[in-house]
Amino acid sequence: MASPVAFAVQAGKLLREQALRPRLLAVRSQAGHLTSRRWLNLQEYQSKKLMSEHGVRVQRFFVASTANEALEAAKRLNAKEIVLKAQILAGGRGKGVFNSGLKGGVHLTKDPNVVGQLAKQMIGYNLTTKQTPKEGVKVNKVMVAEALNISRETYLAILMDRSHNGPVIVGSPQGGVDIEEVAASSPELIFKEPIDIFEGIKDNQAQRMAENLGFLGPLKNQAADQIKKLYHLFLKIDATQVEVNPFGETPEGQVVCFDAKINFDDNAEFRQKDIFAMDDKSENEPIENEAARYDLKYIGLDGNIACFVNGAGLAMATCDIIFLNGGKPANFLDLGGGVKEAQVYQAFKLLTSDPKVEAILVNIFGGIVNCAIIANGITKACRELELKVPLVVRLEGTNVQEAQNILKNSGLPITSAVDLEDAAKKAVASVAKK
Ligand code: GDP
Ligand code: MN
Repeated sequence: MASPVAFAVQAGKLLREQALRPRLLAVRSQAGHLTSRRWLNLQEYQSKKLMSEHGVRVQRFFVASTANEALEAAKRLNAKEIVLKAQILAGGRGKGVFNSGLKGGVHLTKDPNVVGQLAKQMIGYNLTTKQTPKEGVKVNKVMVAEALNISRETYLAILMDRSHNGPVIVGSPQGGVDIEEVAASSPELIFKEPIDIFEGIKDNQAQRMAENLGFLGPLKNQAADQIKKLYHLFLKIDATQVEVNPFGETPEGQVVCFDAKINFDDNAEFRQKDIFAMDDKSENEPIENEAARYDLKYIGLDGNIACFVNGAGLAMATCDIIFLNGGKPANFLDLGGGVKEAQVYQAFKLLTSDPKVEAILVNIFGGIVNCAIIANGITKACRELELKVPLVVRLEGTNVQEAQNILKNSGLPITSAVDLEDAAKKAVASVAKK
């Protein structure tokens, strides 16, 4: 058992992360931003590998990073027909467009040479779909899989649902398409099966879902079996969501997962090391990755005031109060608990590397954090980085007096604020003056 202090720090960290995640995402979308991902995400090919290891039926496939590899993979598959799929984390690839001019992130062909030609127009180009930012997402890999005929496309997902306090299986016989559209236009075609996490999935529950999805005869048992296997996978890998769209059937009578999207519970990282090691960070904003290297949490927004805070609550309050005073936050950098001076320096470096930033607001409440360490970090960063933008600092809590002295005696143009409101007003004013 760790010391009580270490335990408290750890518990605080968990609470903060849980609280920060949905709330800051809400802020981000409020601010007109697309949700960018700071959490573990796997590409389709990685999710399908996990699925096949757990007895879930997926097509045979290879992954390729160059057009030539794609061509070779297509030959090696030796399939009647091949499906080539761009690997990005967003959905809607089928109807997406590349900036190479190619239409469609999913292509079917019988000719391996065509796979090579298509892959050439995919790899290295951006694919824009309904779920990506306008400029799209760069494709680094493609999946080359054995195509199967599809006679029917259904939708299946398993997710942790707050209102059910546990897992729920959601399905619709109307799959393949945008499920939000189905939910809006024909809600009666969305079926839900809450699962008691202690009792696990029951045969009759899997059967009922298979039936609701429209699987008939022997296909019903097969679909139920696949649903159970997907549920076991969901639990075993600490997923928060497993989505299969389409969950399809072939004319030959097989139930197959044609697509896969898995989300994970990041608090389970400690026991899912192998999975987390597969994390594809290539689609993260570089600055978010850089922040993560120093154990800092960075969230980009679209205003011009950088916010340097500790804790989710304070981040939200800081955001609100900047808005209330007519300003807009450019980003958040959450320092967290056991801060070191070097982290403060790195944090400043990151914040000022964003060209949108016209002022920095530091709002730290020193509970676990020692304000003097922050103050030393700030003065050091100001000197070494030759800070060009106005800096407003509000510190409160442990060792605050010493911290104020450090700032005052530094001779640097740092504006002190007495409280949060004062800090926000001063930061907004410093930007307005420019
Ligand atoms: P998404 O557009 O990003 O959701 O990508 P999907 O993997 O779901 O592929 C889009 C669509 O392509 C699916 O809904 C299917 O209709 C079709 N598709 C994907 N794989 C195959 C396949 O092996 N055979 C056939 N016939 N169609 C496929
Ligand atoms: Mn899909």
